[in-house]
Amino acid sequence: MKIRYIKHSTLVIESGGKKIITDPWLVGNFRFFPARPRQVKPEELQDLNLILISHGHGDHLHAESLVTLPKQAQVVSPRGLKNKLIRLGFLEVVELSPGEEFSLPPVTITAVPARHPGQCVGYMIKEGKTVYFAGDTVLFPGMKEIASRFRIDAAFLPIGGVRMLGFKLGMDPADALRAAEILNPKILIPIHFAAGVSVPLLFSMKGSPEELLRKSGPGLKEKIRVLAEGETLEI
Ligand SMILES: [Zn+2]
Repeated sequence: MKIRYIKHSTLVIESGGKKIITDPWLVGNFRFFPARPRQVKPEELQDLNLILISHGHGDHLHAESLVTLPKQAQVVSPRGLKNKLIRLGFLEVVELSPGEEFSLPPVTITAVPARHPGQCVGYMIKEGKTVYFAGDTVLFPGMKEIASRFRIDAAFLPIGGVRMLGFKLGMDPADALRAAEILNPKILIPIHFAAGVSVPLLFSMKGSPEELLRKSGPGLKEKIRVLAEGETLEI
């Protein structure tokens, strides 16, 4: 299984002859985040098979990016987003609730619970290896059940610690380390961080890979793999 980190929550995963992208944000900007140069060439994604959307927030369901992707790709989303995705031109959209599965042989996608404003899920992606895309979840008790159901080879966990009006809406580095203790993945790959994005009193996202490494103790530190933008890891 090849895992290429793009930026934010976007990863391109290749396994079993299938190409999968998570929460594709590839071009343009969103709210407080600066515009980004294109991280992946369009031609690299023309043979995309599967698009996984964790929830409907604009930095995860990014319309400007989604319209650039091939429309024959199968889209998987939580409930309530199908019409929006069909309007963007996609032909095949399947909505999953936590616990439901979608199979694109030899790859199996299982939606798992997540906690974040609005309809949201995480995904377990299985093809030989099992990797966990947590979406934008906070640390929540349901992670214990996820841990009991899956042996996780790699977990992609958000670490930005998003705060809106003072309320924490996503995991910060300390939460992600606690989640990793519960989930026990072989590898922890931090995602969803953006140094310096802050609007005083309104929005902040301060967690960084450096903080994650600094706060990690023995047993976890060696599991952390910080991927540079564009870097590929094979597991
Ligand atoms: Zn969100």
